[in-house]
Amino acid sequence: MKFKAAVLRQSGLPRPYAGSRPLAIETVEAPQPAAGEVIVAIKAASLCHSDLSVVNGDRAWPMPIVPGHEASGVVAEVGPGVHSVKPGDHVALIFLTQCGECEHCIEGRPSLCARGTQANREGRLLTGGPRLRLDGQAVHHHMGLSAFAEYALVSEKSLVKIPEDLPFVEASLFGCAVMCGAGTALYSAGIRPGQSVAVFGLGGVGLSAVLGAVTAGAARIVAVDPSEEKLALAKSLGATDGVTALGAGAAQTVRELTGGGVDHAIDTSSSLDGFGSAFEATRRGGSTVTTSLTNPSQTFSFPVARIVAEARTIKGSYIGTCVPGRDIPAFIRLYRQGRMPVDRLVTRTLKLEQINEAFDALSDAKVVRQVIIF
Ligand SMILES: [Zn+2]
Ligand SMILES: [Zn+2]
Repeated sequence: MKFKAAVLRQSGLPRPYAGSRPLAIETVEAPQPAAGEVIVAIKAASLCHSDLSVVNGDRAWPMPIVPGHEASGVVAEVGPGVHSVKPGDHVALIFLTQCGECEHCIEGRPSLCARGTQANREGRLLTGGPRLRLDGQAVHHHMGLSAFAEYALVSEKSLVKIPEDLPFVEASLFGCAVMCGAGTALYSAGIRPGQSVAVFGLGGVGLSAVLGAVTAGAARIVAVDPSEEKLALAKSLGATDGVTALGAGAAQTVRELTGGGVDHAIDTSSSLDGFGSAFEATRRGGSTVTTSLTNPSQTFSFPVARIVAEARTIKGSYIGTCVPGRDIPAFIRLYRQGRMPVDRLVTRTLKLEQINEAFDALSDAKVVRQVIIF
């Protein structure tokens, strides 16, 4: 079948993207779904910082590629042997396919799936590919999804069924922002009731981490970001304090506010400054958990003796340590009870044709989630 998709041929083009137009809306072609594959009609796809890292070149991907990894839609067609979904089912898309057979999947940590990770890095599906074509040339899949398109050809293991009365715009957020943020607070950090938390960076993941900290029963939730608007939003979602900065001064302020530092600092800032501040904002014995996918060439150093003598923990969190088939339905239940209001993360909805302008707004950190609707 043929459909419209936002194709990136070259990363690292100059800003503003409204001028350089790195993403071109092209008509791509996908074959009939092979065994284990599904075609999903995309209904909503939101822009995440990881998509920006594809466009600005912070993370290297095979080109050309169709980005987009946080989405919801309706199953349009299924390939041979697909039993987990059928045409008409509403689904949330998951950006790391879970093979169910590798050592990580078997030990219950599908967010580390070895085969899914390998397929993602190569810009193909778990089932093979790349499957997309443009003018006879292969177009790569982003995170097994490529959701900035009218349709996506994906592995059935990239999908979680969702209730049919859940609006698609909200539903799109669960696959990345909500799992990465709330999951990090609940599972990677493991916040206990009554503890203190600081969240550095208030994009979709950071604000979801605030929601996760509320769900976990944290007594003190300090939100940290340069944007007054985002701090106000964080407070309305349950943050108890706001700190208007991200750098070294922010850590000092968090320590003063919390009488020596927080139990858990969650860094979602995608910057080394944010990560360093998060680390310095913890109390002795505290933990720093980061979701920041910075440029892989960037490194950070600290005295090892402090980790030991101050019994500190530094941890990375991928997809919030979530099990998507378990946690997406759980988070949706909390959303519907009004206890995890993820709809508040949506800044605006837009059309696929506005995608370059949307990446400018994301680069300027002016927005939380912008959702493309189809
Ligand atoms: Zn994402
Ligand atoms: Zn696996």
